[in-house]
Amino acid sequence: MPDQRVDVRSRAPWAADPLASRGRLHPEPPPEGRDAFQRDRDRIVHCSAFRRLEYKTQVFVNHEGDLFRTRLTHSIEVAQIARTVARRLRLNEDLTEAISLAHDLGHTPFGHAGQDALNRCMQPWGGFEHNLQSLRVVDELEERYGDFDGLNLCFETREGVLKHCSAANAARLGELGRRFIERTQPSLEAQLANLADEVAYVNHDVDDGIRSGLLNVRQLSEVDLFGRHHREVLRRFPDVGERRQVYETIRRMINELVTDLTHTSEALIRANDPRSAAAVRQAAALIAFSEQVGARARQLKQFLFENLYRHSQVLRMTSKAARIVNELFAAFVDDSRLLPDDHRRKAERQLHRTVADYIAGMTDRYAIKEHRRLFSIDET
Ligand code: MG
Repeated sequence: MPDQRVDVRSRAPWAADPLASRGRLHPEPPPEGRDAFQRDRDRIVHCSAFRRLEYKTQVFVNHEGDLFRTRLTHSIEVAQIARTVARRLRLNEDLTEAISLAHDLGHTPFGHAGQDALNRCMQPWGGFEHNLQSLRVVDELEERYGDFDGLNLCFETREGVLKHCSAANAARLGELGRRFIERTQPSLEAQLANLADEVAYVNHDVDDGIRSGLLNVRQLSEVDLFGRHHREVLRRFPDVGERRQVYETIRRMINELVTDLTHTSEALIRANDPRSAAAVRQAAALIAFSEQVGARARQLKQFLFENLYRHSQVLRMTSKAARIVNELFAAFVDDSRLLPDDHRRKAERQLHRTVADYIAGMTDRYAIKEHRRLFSIDET
């Protein structure tokens, strides 16, 4: 029996080291009883944007059903998957967790539909990117500390939160944006959180898709990643009912992706032999799926895109969501006195960005309620 324990104290030389952090925007004394990345993780868990993730969704709107994933459960799944792999690769588990928990903080209500709508509204004023918004949340928008705006997180956590960024925005971000211009890699912890996000969402969207009745097992059986495992499950458990067979299939899919990610990354790290966390940034991406499993994951993503995200029932909901976002944006820009007091003051300096921040911060149900309050004469 191989020893399955992983000693968390033995961090690899390529792992991010909290003592070697590039620091915070506002210098602070080091924390007691925990390290800098642990403190970042704790600040994220305690912030208001994190709590709002509970009422934000990706594919289904929050009130559609209590069993669907929300952004909060999605973020927890991402963190769980990423931490498992981080430990195996002897990366910094706390930094991985902090990035995973924060990666969706900037998401608008109504998932991609809300974000696309807000981006269109904001085109003349610099657009709206949800990754950049997650960074804005942790850098500026959270108001809970006396000495600074935002959460004042370490460079390494902020770097991981900013998963993608347009060249124009990268140029404005200085040090943090540099890797998008020079096309270098972020830390392994950031690379890992990014791929764990993918593992989490393709699998939970299959689950939610079937549960909602928008996808069925027959269609999914044509997708390699699902089909192979599902056939094996049917052989082993022919009589347990479809729900359990789906769960058994999904746990095997997650396991295949996570195992492949771990082994492929282990081999890449070994071949590259980075001597430090800094050397990692100059190398190619070292956290990756194998060619074959990567192709399977892409096939599943394509399937979800065509059959779930573009399903007529989802599109009907997303078109309503987009309309709500557009109308809220137009109403607040047209008359900023409709904004709550604190946003009203900010709007005097920066009208459109403030309105975008206000809308982006809304949960699904709050946006629906706010829309009703603004547009329905018998609501106040
Ligand atoms: Mg995500």
